[in-house]
Amino acid sequence: MGDYFERIVDIEVPAVEADAVAARMLDWMISRRLLSWETSGDAMYSLEVDEGYVPGPDWAQVSEKWGDDWIPGPVAVIVGRDAHHGGQGEVEPESAVCPRCHTKTVIIDYPQQWEADPEIWRPFQTGIDAWKQSGVGTVACNCCGAAALVTEWEWPSGFALGALAFDFWGWPPLTDAFITEFSAQLGHRIEHHTGKF
Ligand SMILES: [Zn+2]
Repeated sequence: MGDYFERIVDIEVPAVEADAVAARMLDWMISRRLLSWETSGDAMYSLEVDEGYVPGPDWAQVSEKWGDDWIPGPVAVIVGRDAHHGGQGEVEPESAVCPRCHTKTVIIDYPQQWEADPEIWRPFQTGIDAWKQSGVGTVACNCCGAAALVTEWEWPSGFALGALAFDFWGWPPLTDAFITEFSAQLGHRIEHHTGKF
């Protein structure tokens, strides 16, 4: 177990509210006995935090069944504006879609290329860095010229900008019902992806 994760990113919560929402979600998961107050850094590799909350007695109610002896790893709670992606390697998403004209900008031109085009990626990186620092960052669309917030651009699955994320390390796949319930508890839209250390 342990080298992959399932992640839920809150893509709407304002950074100033992320701490409070994280605490509320933790209370909820612990009251449902999905997690416990005990923390551990074993079998988890989130870049931003060293320890997560270990599963509670009823953790198996919200995931697929992988056998009675399966023990999932901790759940890391990551607070702060960040670009969340599925791997440890390439950060860049393969594309981004303009929220104004809906034109897709190709950032990694698979299968001809396996890395982001630096010229194309640079304004996105600059916008994301500005957003991480101040909460506001924009990128101008090459097609329509409109400058849109990086949080308004549509990113492909596996890449998400958000101020609060939960990494479930080594859990069997979470059920759709739980993902829906989780989002409802947050009260915000989410991005849900998996990744590997
Ligand atoms: Zn556009």
